[in-house]
Amino acid sequence: MEKETVEKVHCLIVGSGPAGYTAAIYAARANMKPVLYQGIQPGGQLTITTEVENYPGYPEGVQGPEMMVNFEKQAVRMGADIRYGLATKVDFSGPVHKVWIDDEKLIEADAVIIATGASAKWLGLESEQRLNGYGVSACAVCDGFFFRGKEVAIVGAGDTACEEAIYLSKLASNVHMIVRKGEDGMKASKVMQDRVKATPNIKVYWNSETVEVTGGAKVEGVTIKNNVSGEQQTVPVSAFFVAIGHQPNSGIFKGWLDMDEADYLITTPGTSKTKVEGVFAAGDVQDKIYRQAVTAAGSGCMAALDAERYLSEKGLV
Ligand SMILES: Cc1cc2nc3c(=O)[nH]c(=O)nc-3n(C[C@H](O)[C@H](O)[C@H](O)COP(=O)(O)OP(=O)(O)OC[C@H]3O[C@@H](n4cnc5c(N)ncnc54)[C@H](O)[C@@H]3O)c2cc1C
Repeated sequence: MEKETVEKVHCLIVGSGPAGYTAAIYAARANMKPVLYQGIQPGGQLTITTEVENYPGYPEGVQGPEMMVNFEKQAVRMGADIRYGLATKVDFSGPVHKVWIDDEKLIEADAVIIATGASAKWLGLESEQRLNGYGVSACAVCDGFFFRGKEVAIVGAGDTACEEAIYLSKLASNVHMIVRKGEDGMKASKVMQDRVKATPNIKVYWNSETVEVTGGAKVEGVTIKNNVSGEQQTVPVSAFFVAIGHQPNSGIFKGWLDMDEADYLITTPGTSKTKVEGVFAAGDVQDKIYRQAVTAAGSGCMAALDAERYLSEKGLV
């Protein structure tokens, strides 16, 4: 059997979105010599979007991929060691935390910062994928502003979908909300359903599903099928928002860290601390409420500061 390589590090950061890179910038400047593994999506979720207009410091807006290259450059300039690789297994049973990379290399870390983010769930339509970033979006707060005064559609039936529909109703001329079940089967709380129904420019399509998003270079409409009558119609819209949930990338931490019912990591409120001493979590993997680049970056900063305190209390840095 091949001998496993083992490397000891002070501070290991898992994930390269805004949370991971911000943690790396702070940890490097605090002389913690952070090692960061990027995972399969170097730069994180913002690398699959086009323009980001709400990240402070970019008055003209910035392309998501370009912004994440800047995050990485800044972390490297501060001395962070950025590497390709995926964390595939962990063992948080001892004072030294073990994380396996690509099932072959073992990292033994005094402190671990988990910044593995979350992935939006999609319907799985070809047209949805093709027009992603060109009117198809999984984030109303991020992209609603681009469609001010336009007709938009949203699919989803939970509280988040209702919240996003109401958010969009303040920007768009009309919001076409596609709900798979009937009025009785909607997942959202009664309060949120009532708010949707009381919003004059939200039209709900009950018992309906999305057949396809139409358009060549950008979204031009959505074809909706009523599952009771079988009727189909194409509604002209400029944007199609998918609000059917997110999946936090927390699978490898199951059994080691506390998670809520949707698999988000649980941290002590107001901190980035998980239930395991020396293991911290930041960004979307522990945040199902805000899910923004700036909040992810802010919590990455918190995680590095918490880790720095932990390591100095232990006399390790
Ligand atoms: C289409 C779209 C548009 C958006 N637009 C905006 C916007 O305009 N403004 C805004 O503020 N927010 C926007 N967001 C939300 C924003 O992208 C997220 O809130 C933010 O990226 C979360 O940052 P994060 O660092 O927590 O995680 P992510 O960006 O999700 O990054 C997670 C990182 O973890 C890595 N990873 C995962 N698992 C592992 C593993 N096992 N080992 C190693 N690495 C791993 C991934 O490779 C990735 O690098 C948008 C999101 C989407 C999907």
